[in-house]
Amino acid sequence: MGVRRSKSPVVGGVACGHPREILMRIIDCLTLEHDLSLVVLAAAVCVVGTAASLAVTQRTGPGPRRFLWLNLLAVCLGSTVWATHFLAMLAYQTSVPMTYGPGQTLVSYLAGTLIMGLGLHVVALRSGHGGYASAGGVVIGLGVAVLHYLGMEAVHLPGSFHYDPALVMTSLLAACGFGAAGLFIATRSRLLKWRITGATLLVLMTVSLHFIGMAAITLELDGSDRVGQGMSRGILAIAVLLAAITVLGIAVASVLVERAVDRRLASEAERFKTLANGTHEALVIHRQGEIIDSNAAARRLLDLESEAGLRTLGAWLVALAGHESLREAGGDRRIELEMPGRDGAVFPVEVSRLGIQLANGQAGELVAASDLTLRKQAEARIAHLALHDPLTELPNRRLFAELFEKAMSYAERNRDGFAILSVDLDGFKQVNDMLGHGAGDELLRVVAQRLSSLLRKADLLARFGGDEFVILQSRGSLPSEVVGLADRLLTSLSEPITVGTSAVSISTSIGVAIYPKDGTTCEELLRNADTAMYRAKADGKATCRFFEEAMDAALNQRRRLEGRLRTALAEQRLDLAFQPLVSSEDGGAVGFEALVRWHDAELGHVPPSDFIPVAESTGLIFAVGEFVLRRACEAAISWGPSLRVAVNLSAVQFRRKGLVELVRRTLADTGLDGNRLELEVTESLLIDNRDEALQTLTALKALGVRIAMDDFGTGYSSLSYLQSFPFDTIKIDRTFISGMDRNEQNASIVRAVTSMGRGLQMRVVAEGVETDSEAALLRSFDCDEMQGYLIARPMPANKVADYLSATTLSRELDARSDETAPIA
Ligand code: C2E
Ligand code: CA
Ligand code: CA
Repeated sequence: MGVRRSKSPVVGGVACGHPREILMRIIDCLTLEHDLSLVVLAAAVCVVGTAASLAVTQRTGPGPRRFLWLNLLAVCLGSTVWATHFLAMLAYQTSVPMTYGPGQTLVSYLAGTLIMGLGLHVVALRSGHGGYASAGGVVIGLGVAVLHYLGMEAVHLPGSFHYDPALVMTSLLAACGFGAAGLFIATRSRLLKWRITGATLLVLMTVSLHFIGMAAITLELDGSDRVGQGMSRGILAIAVLLAAITVLGIAVASVLVERAVDRRLASEAERFKTLANGTHEALVIHRQGEIIDSNAAARRLLDLESEAGLRTLGAWLVALAGHESLREAGGDRRIELEMPGRDGAVFPVEVSRLGIQLANGQAGELVAASDLTLRKQAEARIAHLALHDPLTELPNRRLFAELFEKAMSYAERNRDGFAILSVDLDGFKQVNDMLGHGAGDELLRVVAQRLSSLLRKADLLARFGGDEFVILQSRGSLPSEVVGLADRLLTSLSEPITVGTSAVSISTSIGVAIYPKDGTTCEELLRNADTAMYRAKADGKATCRFFEEAMDAALNQRRRLEGRLRTALAEQRLDLAFQPLVSSEDGGAVGFEALVRWHDAELGHVPPSDFIPVAESTGLIFAVGEFVLRRACEAAISWGPSLRVAVNLSAVQFRRKGLVELVRRTLADTGLDGNRLELEVTESLLIDNRDEALQTLTALKALGVRIAMDDFGTGYSSLSYLQSFPFDTIKIDRTFISGMDRNEQNASIVRAVTSMGRGLQMRVVAEGVETDSEAALLRSFDCDEMQGYLIARPMPANKVADYLSATTLSRELDARSDETAPIA
């Protein structure tokens, strides 16, 4: 400030606005007219206050208390500028007496603070926006100027101030310029260096305005010592001190708040890290492929350690940002993709991405990827189970049907055909019954392996459940090819299979249907292959049959029979007929053979030779057999105690566990003596499993039951069976008896068997005796017993008593006439 005594020339006033002179004037003002130590103090207050203000700025981000923080900031900044200004005034060395009007001082403070506050609100309108920051800076600079020049008006002294317009202008430009630059930089980033630069510019804003403003003043004294009423320097010093304390208080408070907030932020960050690490989702924060942060799951799943891994992942993340379907649907859209993982492998993930602002203000991206490997595996397993048989892992019926369609269109395109082979194990049920389901499963697995080892890649093997296997032989339209495969299958499956500790021998029946000859749909071909397979079974099993039209009718007939038989059993409509067995010697009845009878309402009379095989193949034979045994024993109870009853046993029945127990229980229930029951069995049951058959026979004999070998001569006719098995009776088959009087060969066989039976102490029975000459011949061979139409046809149970009394009467008459007859 220049001082001009009145009526003396202007001292130090600046007449013209030459920049160099302006600068010199400013330097003079600062160095010559001010107490430098107080200037330094003013500068220190300014620096501290500005720094504190900037610290407060950090809190003015978006939030509910933003308005409060902004006003606090305005108070802080206003107080800083105000204290700097008046400290600098105190530093001004002059002999001129001065006081300070308290009202104007307050007004300068309030007006300056208000304008600076406005400026701050402008800055905060768009945080981080350079334009708003600069505009706010200009307003703040104006606030500083208003505070300064109004503050000068509060100075009371004997004289008046004259302002140099050029320097006033300069001070305004400097304050606004520094203010704009300072706020632009200070709000640009949170980095310390930018904050320090910004703060320095803001300090310069305050300081430059003050000293240029002071340099602009020329004081014209009026020569008196009159000073207006006002605060003395001492009071001003106290006010400045208070302002400085306010600033410091705000500064300390804001530092404390800042630390508390930082701690909270740090603990929040820690909590977020824990959360992020706790999730199974891989979280990656990146900027254009450069990984910035990741969570534990990401480190586990992704290759974040090697350069190559990071490069691959980076490229993938960049590509992800451009992914159509993710871009379309904003942040929460998730899509399934394959992601590069460890060891160069890819794995299925579900990803979502979210644009975020990084700490340095740059745009980044958060990518969340959940690993779908396990889910995909489970899905694949479920899909596999839906199409495969769980026991053998072979395709099931559904998958077969799908693949069949493909095979069919392929065959059509190539004008080719293929074969469907229906493969069924003979006697699988028995293995299951005897050895348990575990063994059955094991057997099926081995069978599946053997079958598939014999097929070509283009062929298809499926299991439809139970022991039902189906093969689609591609290009198998040539019978020779199919026969070749069928032979290999039959041979391979006839080899014993080890199940647990036992070796099981099974055979297989195969039925073949050819596309397109035997059908053009999957269903039709499978049905016809099955028909052929049943024919193979009917033809003695362990063989293969090709489908023929005629088989269909037979099969339908068979199915009908089975259904009717089931009903007959349920409704107890089976019955027994009894055919007498008589002694060759005197023609007296020694027993009766029980023969099952079935008269069906729809089918009429069905002979046992028709329905017994059906009952055997469907398992109905067990119910039939149990019924026959019980009825036969019950009937025999009412006959004389010397008469026995013969009951036929099928080989299927014989092989089932529990037969011995069934016989024991039936005898006990009906009260029939064991040695009055004779069980008729055929040779066939001795062939498959000799040891087991022998065991069962021995157990039956232990009950006192007798055993007859039925139909002797028709089967394998090995005489050695007779020696090694404990038979009581041999029944010579009727094919040898009928016409034996005319057939020399048959007669000699019957004679041989009769004499051998005698040698083995077995009773020999001839069945199917129809003529007297046959009977006479048998008697001459010393055959023990006879059975046949000649003696009696099978009769209902209620006719047995009549038969017995009639024959006893006639025998007695015969005996009497023999006695009276003259001796020849
Ligand atoms: P099989 O055990 O050889 O029974 C004798 C069969 O010969 C009976 O036929 C009987 O009626 C018939 N027959 C008796 N005398 C003569 C004769 O002089 N001339 C001729 N041509 N035939 C005669 P059926 O009752 O039709 O039985 C046929 C076969 O059915 C039986 O042969 C037997 O293997 C089986 N069968 C009958 N009943 C049962 C049964 O309850 N259980 C089992 N498992 N099989 C039975
Ligand atoms: Ca018999
Ligand atoms: Ca017989």
